[in-house]
Order: sequence, then C-alpha cells, then structure tokens
Amino acid sequence: MTATETASLEPAGDFVRDIIRTDLDAKRHTRVVTRFPPEPNGYLHIGHAKSICLNFGVAREFGGQCHLRFDDTNPTKEDQEFIDAIERDVRWLGFDWGPHLHHASDYFERLYGWAETLIQDGKAYVDDSSADDIRALRGTLTEAGKNSPYRDRGVAENLDLFRRMRAGEFPDGARVLRAKIDMTSGNINLRDPVIYRILHAAHPRTGKAWCIYPTYDFAHGQSDAIEGITHSLCTLEFADHRPLYEWFLDNLPVPSRPKQHEFARLNLGFTVLSKRFLTDLVRRGAVKGWDDPRMPTLAGHRRRGVPPAAIREFVRRIGVAKANSVVDVGMFEHAIRELLNKTAPRRMAILRPLKVVIENYPADIVETLEAHNNPEDPGAGKRPVRFGREIYVERDDFMENPPKKFYRLSPGREVRLRYAYFLTCREAVKNPAGEVVELRCTYDPTTRGGDSPDGRKVQATLHWVAAADAIPAEIRLYGHLFMRPDPGADGDFFADLNPESLEILRDSLIEPALASGKIGEPVQFERQGYFCADNDSTPERPVFNRTVGLRDSWAKAKASSGGPT
Ligand code: ATP
Ligand code: MG
Repeated sequence: MTATETASLEPAGDFVRDIIRTDLDAKRHTRVVTRFPPEPNGYLHIGHAKSICLNFGVAREFGGQCHLRFDDTNPTKEDQEFIDAIERDVRWLGFDWGPHLHHASDYFERLYGWAETLIQDGKAYVDDSSADDIRALRGTLTEAGKNSPYRDRGVAENLDLFRRMRAGEFPDGARVLRAKIDMTSGNINLRDPVIYRILHAAHPRTGKAWCIYPTYDFAHGQSDAIEGITHSLCTLEFADHRPLYEWFLDNLPVPSRPKQHEFARLNLGFTVLSKRFLTDLVRRGAVKGWDDPRMPTLAGHRRRGVPPAAIREFVRRIGVAKANSVVDVGMFEHAIRELLNKTAPRRMAILRPLKVVIENYPADIVETLEAHNNPEDPGAGKRPVRFGREIYVERDDFMENPPKKFYRLSPGREVRLRYAYFLTCREAVKNPAGEVVELRCTYDPTTRGGDSPDGRKVQATLHWVAAADAIPAEIRLYGHLFMRPDPGADGDFFADLNPESLEILRDSLIEPALASGKIGEPVQFERQGYFCADNDSTPERPVFNRTVGLRDSWAKAKASSGGPT
C-alpha cells in the first residue's frame, strides 16, 4: 500500500464527526444513517465529491449506512441520463449504497397524504394567486410579508381544491398548496412556503401518475425522516431552511426525527461548481459535453485521467468546516500528481516532433535498449525500446542561439538521450522559410545506456522516440476552463471562459508501448506530465488527454512560503 493510500485511511477529524461521536456516546442513536441526496438535473461535480466522501465516509467509519437518494421532485429538469450518470460516478468514486437506493418519488403518495394532514389540521391552504402575486406579498428581508386573500379558506374547500389539483382539473400554475405558518416571520422560508405545485409533466420514474409535485423543501426533510436518517448533512445555504424542515417534522406524524447539520460547500479557484451554469456550458456548446475533460464534473475528471483516489485524498485534505472559502485549484492538482507519481508507468512521447538524423549511426541497424517503467516503483520492471539512426525529439529541446542557461540541444552541444546514448548536435537543417526542420547529430557509441565511461558530464537528458516504430497520435492539452480565479465575479461567466483551454496537437509521436494502453489508464510521458488514452482513440489513431503537467506550482509555493507541505 502506498503512503497516499494509507493516508486516506486515517480517520478525518472535523466538527461533523465530533457531533456524531457525541451523539453515539450519549446514546441518542445506536447507529449512524446518512444519505447523499442529489437532484438528477445534471452530472456530479467535484463539490458533490466532498459531500459524497463525507456522507459515505462517516457511515463507513462509524459502522452505519449511507443511502443514495435522488431528490427527484422536479420532472421538467430531471432525466434518466443524469440518474444513470450519478450512480456511475458515485461508484467510480469508490462508494456503495448497497440496498439503500431511494427516490423522493418513492414517497410521493406518503407526502401527498401528509399534505392532506396539514390541510385537515388547518396548517395548509390552496392559493389561487399567481406566482407574481405570491412573490409580491412575500415581503423582503427587512419587511414583513402580507397574508394572501386565500389564506383563510376553510378546510373542506382546501381539501376539495387540493384533490382536484391532483385529479388534473387545473392547468400549470393555476393554484399551489402552501403551508400556513407565519407571513411576518423574520425567516422568509417560513412565510407560507409553497409545498405543492401543478406540473403536467411526465416523471422519469412515476410517468404520468402525478400532475402535482411536492417542492424540494416539502420532500427533502420528510424523505430523511422516512428513511430514518440520523444526521442530515448539507451545505450552509440550507441553514435558513432548517426551521422549516423542523416545522414539518413537528407538525406531521413522521416516523423519525433527523437532525440537520450544515457544512461549507467546496469552492475551487478557476472553476464553477453550479449545475445550472454547467448545464448552460453544455447547452451552448462551450464544452463538448458533461464529460469534457475541462469540466469539473466527476465524468470529466475520469475522462481526463484523474484517479478517484486522488479526489478522495484531496477531499480529505481540505477537511470539513463551517466557514466558506475558496480552495486553490493547485492543491487539487498537487494531490493528482502525488498519486500518479507513485503509480503511473513512464513512457516516452514527443508532443511536437523535430527529426534527428544521427549521421554516424548505421542506417541498416535498429537496436533494442531497456527503459525503466517507473523509477519510483522498483517492482514496475523494464521494457524494451527501439533505437536507430533516425529519432524524434521535442522541438522545444532545440535552440539555434540558446540563452545562457539553456542546456539542451544547440549546435555543438552534447546531451544524453534517456536510456540510450550521448548525442551531439552538429547542424540544423532549415527549409526555404528558414524554419529548422531537422537536426544532423552524432552519437558516442561508448555511452550505451546513457552513461559515459570516461565520466564526461552532460547537463540535459532528453526523451525521444525512434522513427522506426513511433506511432502517430493526437494529444490534447487542457488549461483552466476560465481565465480568472473567480469566474463570473463581474456577472458574466461566459465572458471569463479561457479561449485557450484546449490545445490539440495532431502530429505527436508516441512509443509503441503506449498504443496498447487502456482507455483512462494513467501514464507519465517523461518530462511532460500525466496523460491517459481518451475514448476517442481508434486502433489507427490513439488520442491522449493531458491529466496534469509535471510542474507543481502548489508544492513550490508551499515550500517557499515555509508552510507545511
Ligand atoms: P448546484 O448548486 O451545483 O446546482 P446542488 O446543491 O443544487 O448543486 P444537489 O444535487 O442538490 O445539487 O446536491 C446534492 C448534495 O451535494 C447536496 O447535499 C449539496 O449540499 C451537496 N453539494 C452540492 N454542491 C456542493 C459543493 N460545492 N460542495 C459540497 N457539497 C455540495
Ligand atoms: Mg440542490
């Protein structure tokens, strides 16, 4: 087991776990039951990973159970595609809900019955006002709301109208059912919130059985109560809804009484974590889909080659707190690099090829050398690589008139070719436009394997591929999707999109060992970064995504600021 894997098994300490421990010690509960409650109106993103790791994590640590519950109360925005993607992504992240797969829609009949209970108890009424009128009477943070003219309808009339709403007698928006709480409450959520609305829309699970749907607020807490959730963990924006959830629990014959605890949502620099906005990106074609490797979705990260263990470790490191903050995206990238450095096999690939002809190497010979699969992991072994008179190196590794500290190839300069020989550049061949198209070089046959018997030193070691067996490939390099750390701060997310977030290299060359790689499996391209084969790959044409580059600005910043690394 690697250090990173052991680290992620260390129990995390945070206020949520403290509360649970206290509750168990005080015998308020004998067992912990949590849930992850996504609304199936989009794909899961890295922010959801925080909630998933917390809910499934505490259930695992305390020997309890965690439910996956779809809060599927809004059929106009929800879709089977999202349901399937959410299940796939939670599993991929390493969690299992066992038999505890639930849906708010499983409880529609019960929730309906409870709405009738509220009506019968004089605690809910049918309001014929338009949405605009309801909004106008709601008041503001500083101003009390006003009672609706329909607020004092009698029980019998309310019941009759509500049943006719269910029977489909009224069009969308004609009426709503509202809880009768307090229009003067300081908490706007308690000003007679809407709990049922008319929506003639088919539901992915219940089909056409319903034309009225409970609001999220009416379904959420009661679903928790039905499932016997002990700790309802949610993000801070729901703190203001807690009094409403408790009002429902107080006024309905619910089978259990969950307690809600709020924690800060994850915000990441250069990233937007809002499903509504991510939906816009997909719809407007700003990205190629929910799993575009630039998307902060779990599907995007998977396609990009991010291992789920790196996401879990990142989430463990950021911890769970009560105060909102923005996490440096470099910290996420650092967690990815750290894991991949230990696990990813090393390979050679040339992103922007420059041809090298080794003039003193025989034209009719191709020899086989040995390359290490992973210097960090002695068990990873070695592989054969072919070497011959013509090879390719990175265009960036040559400069005709190099500045002082450039130690790579330039006329007269000697470098090491990794696992091969010392190579000296003799001449750059140019095309009529004056561009360098080929290097004429010589090699030192006594340096086979990359060591000089006379102790001669070189200051650069370059990767390369042999012309004899290199395979053409497409390589996709990704930058931040947004140009600024706080996208949308000026009001328009789209204006902050980075026009250079994707660079496609179509003439790259890879060593043959890479051609057989499995889709999504991470590799390190020596000196370049971590990559994985994309599912656009064909047998004729492999396509690779760059997961993350090798340079680690996060680790450097930490080291230079003297902070913990
Ligand atoms: P969005 O705000 O992106 O539209 P949401 O909160 O509406 O997302 P849900 O499907 O309702 O999406 O979220 C399911 C769970 O994930 C909720 O409990 C929510 O609190 C949690 N969650 C959503 N975003 C984050 C985040 N950025 N950090 C931590 N938890 C989150
Ligand atoms: Mg939500």
